[in-house]
Amino acid sequence: MRRVEALEILADATADLPVVVTCAATSRELAAVADRPNHLYLLDAMGLAGSVATGLALAVADAPVERVVAIEGDGSLLMNPNVLPTGGHLRPRKLLMVLLDNAVYGSTADLPTYAAGLDLGGVAAACGWAVRRADDPGTLRRAFAEARAADGPVLLHVRIAPGNAPDVPRLLEDPVVLGRRFRDWLAERA
Ligand SMILES: [Mg+2]
Repeated sequence: MRRVEALEILADATADLPVVVTCAATSRELAAVADRPNHLYLLDAMGLAGSVATGLALAVADAPVERVVAIEGDGSLLMNPNVLPTGGHLRPRKLLMVLLDNAVYGSTADLPTYAAGLDLGGVAAACGWAVRRADDPGTLRRAFAEARAADGPVLLHVRIAPGNAPDVPRLLEDPVVLGRRFRDWLAERA
């Protein structure tokens, strides 16, 4: 399964949820699949999707927002692995992090990450996260539904193939505009 195929499934499954997306190819591909105000693209903020989503999940703990979804990459999570013990410690019940793990830095010539020899789902489990796994479209749809129904913090570990989708335009919108659009969407619900 390619990243863009996983993102098509995730876009379908998250139209009513706030989604915090890691930078570079993942944000570009999600915006190409479906650019919606419930998406917060963390342009250039590598490593922070989980942290931002953790804060949001805590902030909406008592609001009518079912889950806060982070879409993270393996290289990005490995830049800030502290998000895993932090989630295990704070236990944000609404936090659902989807880890798209291709074991490479997809935006820098597919250089290998530590995930090539490290089970990040196992690391999350050791930190106290509930872990679900998927490696094809069918298991991803089912595992996302299970993860959404479970109390967080939940990590959905998705194995994907290396490689970026071709001909995806750059995401050049002003981050201030993107942030305001997301905040307005969330404020109507929370
Ligand atoms: Mg990667």
